[in-house]
Amino acid sequence: MDVSVIIPVYNEEENLKPLFARLCSAMDTLGKSWEVIFTNDGSTDSSGTILKEFCKERDNVRLIDFNGNFGQHTAIIAGFEKASGDVIITLDADLQNPPEEIGKLLQKIDEGYDTVGGYRKVREDTAMRRYCSKFVNFARDKMTNIRMKDQGCMLRAYKRNIVQAILQTNERSLFIPALAYTYSEHPTDVEVEHSARAAGESKYNMYKLIRLNFDLITGFTLVPLQMFTLFGFLSSFGSFTLVVILLFRRFFLGSEAEGVFTLFAMLFFLISVAIVGIGLIGEYIGRIYKVVQSRPKYVIKEIVGFNDNAK
Ligand code: UDP
Ligand code: MG
Repeated sequence: MDVSVIIPVYNEEENLKPLFARLCSAMDTLGKSWEVIFTNDGSTDSSGTILKEFCKERDNVRLIDFNGNFGQHTAIIAGFEKASGDVIITLDADLQNPPEEIGKLLQKIDEGYDTVGGYRKVREDTAMRRYCSKFVNFARDKMTNIRMKDQGCMLRAYKRNIVQAILQTNERSLFIPALAYTYSEHPTDVEVEHSARAAGESKYNMYKLIRLNFDLITGFTLVPLQMFTLFGFLSSFGSFTLVVILLFRRFFLGSEAEGVFTLFAMLFFLISVAIVGIGLIGEYIGRIYKVVQSRPKYVIKEIVGFNDNAK
């Protein structure tokens, strides 16, 4: 098998048919053997039924049916585990990533790159999403040594050895593009088209987005913790200086009453910084906790369309 295309699906009933038609025609023109693996991530609409129909239609269509919603990245991992292609492509189901662009990614793989990320020059999302992404892209760039143009674009191609390395990772809360980058020898980016979501709504609310991006940062760097230690040093030095000044005033100038509100303000500031710090440590401990529990990442209800030679 040359290419496996992996598509996570969560309540995308209106998008699946046009997606499937466009995917098939785009892939068939490439002249490569290919399969598509849909992971149904606990959809509550008719997505599961539609995907089963696709499996009957063609013998290169496979379905992994989860028994609940385990998240986009987990759904992709399940696809990785069953993929038999030499190159593995990931793609969103909402037609934001045009399947016609897959050829471009494969061409880069043929040139010798082992991870190819798509980047969206013109991005069809809300302004709020775009600004947040810009900020996280910036933070990731400064705090980790992961260099990629557009971490949020899920239209990506990986060589088999990269996917295998990702599968050996025992972490929970994975951020696949960043993880792939850390394992690849020759990563590159290529510009791809981006469309507005064809139908339905984004499956990411603000909370899920924040969680995902926390995973990105805490999963790949200890810089936030180190910044805290550094801040702790600076503020204790500052407080010490303040104590000296106040003592001096108390004993030599005798005035004390005024300035008490400034002190309160500083106290509140430092307390809130400390609370953020506790939360931050919690993030890292939470990651450890999840790995130590080592619960199954997902539960499969049914598998359709995999034949015997599929791994
Ligand atoms: N998705 C999923 N499980 C989830 C959330 C999303 O499988 O819990 C899928 C979704 O069906 C889509 C892809 O992941 O194929 C990207 O989701 P979405 O388009 O909602 O994200 P956005 O484009 O807004 O970042
Ligand atoms: Mg989308």
